[in-house]
Amino acid sequence: MTYSVEIKDLSVAYGSVKVLESLNIQIEEGEFVVLLGPSGCGKSTLLSCIAGLLDVTDGQIFISGRNVTWDEPKDRGIGMVFQSYALYPQMTVERNLSFGLRVAGMPKDQIEARVKRASEILQIEPLLKRKPVELSGGQRQRVAIGRALVRDVDVFLFDEPLSNLDAKLRSDLRVEIKRLHARLKNTMIYVTHDQIEAMTLADRIAIMKNGVIQQLADPHTIYNKPVNLFVAGFIGSPSMNFIKGKLDGTTLSVDGEANIPLANYPFVAQANGDVVLGVRPEHIVLGDEARNMPVQIESEIEIVEPMGSDTIAWTKIASQSLTFRAAAEVQLSPGQKVLIGFDPGRGSVFNAASGERM
Ligand code: ADP
Ligand code: MG
Repeated sequence: MTYSVEIKDLSVAYGSVKVLESLNIQIEEGEFVVLLGPSGCGKSTLLSCIAGLLDVTDGQIFISGRNVTWDEPKDRGIGMVFQSYALYPQMTVERNLSFGLRVAGMPKDQIEARVKRASEILQIEPLLKRKPVELSGGQRQRVAIGRALVRDVDVFLFDEPLSNLDAKLRSDLRVEIKRLHARLKNTMIYVTHDQIEAMTLADRIAIMKNGVIQQLADPHTIYNKPVNLFVAGFIGSPSMNFIKGKLDGTTLSVDGEANIPLANYPFVAQANGDVVLGVRPEHIVLGDEARNMPVQIESEIEIVEPMGSDTIAWTKIASQSLTFRAAAEVQLSPGQKVLIGFDPGRGSVFNAASGERM
């Protein structure tokens, strides 16, 4: 099978500092893959290697089955969009869009047709005669995307394209990128440190830490079956609750103060000793609902954060913080005693020492 993009044993070092080491990834035709991870984990480095902007130390890069490891960026069939729009300030939008094609010597009527199509798709036709300084940030980023679009490439590479925009524009343009992908069906590789962008856009998310892909899976799997504590903690807002305890037989003892019965869960058979039970805030329920749950805890509300659509509340299990999500209608206030409950079967259990999921 030919992959749209295939990375084989890629290593990159800056001097003696190894940023990527023997990284492998296979991306299918038309897939939207998001590289997600904290700042400095190597996302841009990986994307720059695919784009040909950075020499690899070792390994190979294939695009549509062709080894492009040492090809010039312009010969790779890729289009790239950066966080900084990098538009030519002295040129109109139209000239910015057509620049690459003019340099490549494309016939004028073809250039016009391409610019017309791209500006229609991105709804920037009314802006064609303007210069970048006369555009908002969102409009500039649309032009930057347009510049990749006119090249009619197989693979789009995005490096944090929305990071310079304010929150409202960011979510608007996010939906537009999704629409663009649904329409064009190109392969897209998208770098971000924003978990919401990753969850909403990706067919598959590659979560990276220190240059290593921790998990590569669809958003649902990443969210519900994180392979380790890093992935579990990185995805989800508020974060997954990590309840640290000692597993003895089928009971998880939390600080010797609270006991969580974990019989009937398959993972108990493999575990003993120090573990972390991960529970998503939205899987914790209150009051009558809690009475039907395998785990029930009498607790006291510490802090309440109304979010409008719902409410985040903070409480404790033994001496460890616990967050849960409640419906906006539920009245909660600090000091209030509530019964909370959850089903550990919906959670994750990790080995405390290795951080690996059991
Ligand atoms: P990300 O895009 O995930 O934030 P980068 O790929 O930009 O991360 O950087 C990965 C690591 O490589 C970081 O530790 C960064 O400091 C280092 N790095 C990036 N560019 C250079 C460079 N030109 N010289 C030396 N180190 C670099
Ligand atoms: Mg980066």
